[in-house]
Amino acid sequence: MLGLMQSQPLLISSLIEFAARHHRDAEIVSRRVEGDIHRYTYKDLAGRARQLANALDAMGLQPGDRVASLAWNGYRHMEMYFGVSGSGRVLHTVNPRLHPEQIAWIINHAEDRALCFDLSFLPIIQAVHAKCPLVKQWVALCDADKLPADSGIPGLVSYEAWIGSHSDQYQWPQFDENTASSMCYTSGTTGNPKAALYSHRSSTLHAYAAALPDVMCLSARDSVLPVVPMFHVNAWGIPYSAALTGCKLVFPGPALDGKSVYELMEAEGVTFAAGVPTVWQMLLSHMKPAGLRFSTLKRTVIGGSACPPAMLNTFQDEYGVSVLHAWGMTEMSPLGTLCSLKNKHLEMPKDEQMKILQKQGRAIYGVEMKIVGDDGQEQPWDGKSFGDLLVRGPWIIDSYYKGSASPLIQGDDGHGWFPTGDVATIDADGYMQITDRSKDVIKSGGEWISSIDIENIAMAHPAVAMAACIGMPHPKWDERPIVAVTRKPGAELSREELLQFYEGKAAKWQVPDDVVFVESIPLGATGKMLKTKLRESLKDYKLPTA
Ligand code: ADP
Repeated sequence: MLGLMQSQPLLISSLIEFAARHHRDAEIVSRRVEGDIHRYTYKDLAGRARQLANALDAMGLQPGDRVASLAWNGYRHMEMYFGVSGSGRVLHTVNPRLHPEQIAWIINHAEDRALCFDLSFLPIIQAVHAKCPLVKQWVALCDADKLPADSGIPGLVSYEAWIGSHSDQYQWPQFDENTASSMCYTSGTTGNPKAALYSHRSSTLHAYAAALPDVMCLSARDSVLPVVPMFHVNAWGIPYSAALTGCKLVFPGPALDGKSVYELMEAEGVTFAAGVPTVWQMLLSHMKPAGLRFSTLKRTVIGGSACPPAMLNTFQDEYGVSVLHAWGMTEMSPLGTLCSLKNKHLEMPKDEQMKILQKQGRAIYGVEMKIVGDDGQEQPWDGKSFGDLLVRGPWIIDSYYKGSASPLIQGDDGHGWFPTGDVATIDADGYMQITDRSKDVIKSGGEWISSIDIENIAMAHPAVAMAACIGMPHPKWDERPIVAVTRKPGAELSREELLQFYEGKAAKWQVPDDVVFVESIPLGATGKMLKTKLRESLKDYKLPTA
């Protein structure tokens, strides 16, 4: 017997129409590429998303056609999130930090028909446009009078002129909620990038889940600053959850340095912010020496790579800002777990609580997870046994766009599990902790050493700015860990001092064999440490113990 309730499809257009009706005057504030601050409301946003939808119709774009963006976090990008997907096309957010060759490859692989870009990325478009014959319309996300006269890009129009001639009235089409809405390519640290193709259903369910109290806890009372880029995994879904909750939104544009982010937070009364550890590192290094404080910030989600416990402590103890450590990936839309305490933990001593909060956290309803050993057998949830982390759920990838083989591992019940490539433990309360990406795991004398643990200890040293631990070949032990470190400006630190710092914090056999001081640690297109590059740059390095 079927239930007798209505079954409206879950569509992204309904999010923006909801916001326009119920939160019409809630503000969206953006720092623009031009440097000035732009403000408008959800009502304005909805009107302009409808104008964009009309412009796409006028171009003759078909349902399912891909429209790409190459843009910072800002209001025009937000309009694309709703105008492109809402009208039945697929928004392809391209990561501008990728190499131009890779960008051209991605644009062609996705078969993008139109591409809208911020003027900061004009040089990239100039380099790739001739290699992308399928793109029929290049659009600069700028005012008509800012359009560069001699860009060399055929038919280039300004976004404002392009959508400006169209009506702000539009009847959003209704279609199957499983229709594709947006796509995002993985960073391609191993081989060519692969694309996750999200649906209206997966994005809307993820938007509901992301707003939950133990997830991002978003509400109409919040002022939200997504530093996480809208060009990678939909800025962790914040644009959709923002429309769903009616929170004030604050977009940082291209200015992601500590000073700019801090000033924007203070000026716009930001209560909640989300970003990867490297961004917060920059913010804290700006604030600490100047003795600055947050006057409104209450919570921050830190994820994308492991949040060093030292950073968590600084936010909580020195600034009174609670940190939610989060884990996810492109293939998961991206949220999988977030870390917050349960009722039974509230009376615990603070250091016990901190031990829990350092983990990657508990699964959100909608994400099932398990850990399995090399033999595929499920490992116990005891906080010690570790294994490959597998996940499944309605916002987790089934197959890659244009992918031939299924990435899933069949479960006993016939349903597939997605292997995350992460190695983790899960404790009896369901708190998951990543020990490594499987390709970064260090195997020493048959025992595994967690590179994340080794990095976290180094990061707790006051002179260390960033630390990356990798395994180096060793004749006896297979591999031994070394830690590559950048020092904070002006700070002094010797190899011996840092190695001594490990005493009592890690088992003897886990302590790195060497410390290598480097100018900088290579970062990938999403701000994560690129260990492949680091290994490459240390290819002539010899372990002193080998
Ligand atoms: P890619 O770098 O391939 O684009 P994603 O941006 O999707 O991939 O990153 C997903 C990966 O990032 C995860 O599989 C995991 O290894 C790592 N990651 C994400 N969040 C965390 C976290 N909080 N702690 C440790 N690792 C994390």
